[in-house]
Amino acid sequence: MNEVVLYSLGEALPVCAVCNKPVDKVESMYHPNYMGKLFRVYCHGKTEEQMLSDYDVCSSLQITFDLAFHRPLGGNNI
Ligand SMILES: [Zn+2]
Repeated sequence: MNEVVLYSLGEALPVCAVCNKPVDKVESMYHPNYMGKLFRVYCHGKTEEQMLSDYDVCSSLQITFDLAFHRPLGGNNI
């Protein structure tokens, strides 16, 4: 499987839902154990991690970031 470039550092950053501005930094790394990529978002002194599996990548033509830190803590997920 070819490596899919999902995110290029220096381009548009995901927007932090808390600060309402682009996050400070995004890192991505391939995790063979999970058969996918781990994205780590840095903002307001916190980090958020999101896994993106190879299956997700293969089944999507394009993957874009929307909001980071948008998941409610202990709230109801839809
Ligand atoms: Zn923030």
